[in-house]
Amino acid sequence: MADRFLASRTALVTGSTSGIGLAIACGLAAAGAKIAINGLGTPEQIDAALQAVRDAGAADVRHFGADLRDPEQIEAMMAAIDAWSPLDVLVNNAGIQHAVPLAEMPTQKWNDILAINLSSAFHSMRLAMPGMAARGYGRVVNIASVHGLVASVNKAPYVASKFGIVGLSKVAALEYAAAGTRDSGGITVNCICPGWVETALIEPQIEARRNALGNPDATRDDGVRALLSEKQPSLRMSLPEDIASMVLWLCRREAHNVTGASFPIDGGWTAQ
Ligand code: NAD
Repeated sequence: MADRFLASRTALVTGSTSGIGLAIACGLAAAGAKIAINGLGTPEQIDAALQAVRDAGAADVRHFGADLRDPEQIEAMMAAIDAWSPLDVLVNNAGIQHAVPLAEMPTQKWNDILAINLSSAFHSMRLAMPGMAARGYGRVVNIASVHGLVASVNKAPYVASKFGIVGLSKVAALEYAAAGTRDSGGITVNCICPGWVETALIEPQIEARRNALGNPDATRDDGVRALLSEKQPSLRMSLPEDIASMVLWLCRREAHNVTGASFPIDGGWTAQ
């Protein structure tokens, strides 16, 4: 039986209707938390995500449907979650990507990527963290990227947003470092910085590498190998569940002094 160390805790995972966010929501559910999921999708996709989190063992689960480009919708979501069950764990995971050269980047893409990947975390943190401090326990885990630590071409807004969330997390970690106690667990703020993870977000990049091979018989696996050989020495993608495991550990009481850090899970990418 799973260790239910988050029983009596409530967690919000943004962008948890698919991919890494859904795996994190399921991991937190298996540890006993009440789960607020958020993210876009058809009613069927949202129902499937709710069912997956329920099946994983959530004490309770609801979908809160804010579009994270809109600060007013974020405020309404955070108020609704607080009325449902005050937040102990906040995982800012929602993110989008658009890979083209800087001079060709549509302004709307810049605005949307900065709003979803960075500004939404500012809003959820400013609204959730005072309550965490008052209760003596809180965990903010921001899903950044290796692109919060190093750059790549064609990803100007993505890299800017991810470097931004690494900086935002350090400031919040300092401001809340002394809140709570060792026994209550304290308030911590950290980033996880994945390299390639097997989700829908990177499929267009796999397809682009497969096409660039110029071989009509090239498979998706050939595209994956081409993509990883550029940057990720392990030549293995992470699974969403691998990222969820790190989030879970950060939520434990004994992680009370781990704050302001950014953890690469990148097969050696940023060691180079
Ligand atoms: P994904 O596309 O599977 O999931 C993204 C989630 O964000 C979905 O639930 C989607 O509905 C939600 N979302 C998008 N726009 C939204 C909006 N306007 N309002 C609310 N929700 C919105 O992607 P993923 O690969 O699981 O990525 C999750 C996070 O991990 C992102 O922040 C991404 O940058 C980061 N990341 C991913 C990888 C990777 O290789 N997949 C690597 C490093 C970092």
